[in-house]
Amino acid sequence: MPSIATRLETVRRRIREAEKAANRELGSVTLLAVSKMQPVDALQQAIAAGQREFGENYLQEAADKQDELADTTDLHWHFIGPLQSNKTKPAAARFDWVHSVDRLKLARRLDGQRPEGLPPLNVCLQVNISGESSKAGLSPADTETLAGEMLQFERLRLRGLMAIPAPASDPEKQRQPFRALRELLDRLNQRFPLHMDTLSMGMSADLEAAIAEGATIVRVGTDVFGPRPDPATTA
Ligand SMILES: *Cc1c(COP(=O)(O)O)cnc(C)c1O
Repeated sequence: MPSIATRLETVRRRIREAEKAANRELGSVTLLAVSKMQPVDALQQAIAAGQREFGENYLQEAADKQDELADTTDLHWHFIGPLQSNKTKPAAARFDWVHSVDRLKLARRLDGQRPEGLPPLNVCLQVNISGESSKAGLSPADTETLAGEMLQFERLRLRGLMAIPAPASDPEKQRQPFRALRELLDRLNQRFPLHMDTLSMGMSADLEAAIAEGATIVRVGTDVFGPRPDPATTA
């Protein structure tokens, strides 16, 4: 198995190549290392290799790792999993970003619970861009409504949109939902004085397609850390 440092280098090279291929500025795409279900030791290896942005899906698991890594002060934590309304407090207090805001109630609670001593919480609205009935996220029309309502929240900074499109293997098919998300961001920026600058899209299997369509954050788990441990065998 390649080391995490080697895997990180490979993913960084893929990002650079994709930036070049799209005539984008080198360094314009942020790599978010998705460390859900990975032990703290794996995060430490990534930190030693220069990684500072981490994505987590489960609040309790994330809190344990954040406490263990409290001495590393320049880490940035992104919450990317589904968020229940009664769990917004730790999300507001312990994270720099929440990518999965998909209803007004969540936004209102995060705004109210963001601690005073911290800068506004960066948030993305999660969009169900492929229109799958099973998927979390707002329809494009509901995204527009919620984006307008976000202007009222002083403790939140609406940075952009996030999506997890249906998997596709053909690169042209992969690009289609990413393009739709970019066009939605452009429309919202024209309609509202929001100045959103973030498209959180692209994972291990489709980051090149996402970067070609304007991703500014790619969320990569497997290709950085290797396969996630199976909870059934490690519990
Ligand atoms: C797990 C996860 C990822 C990373 O997926 P990989 O296929 O392992 O790269 C990205 N985004 C979200 C929202 C996830 O839950």
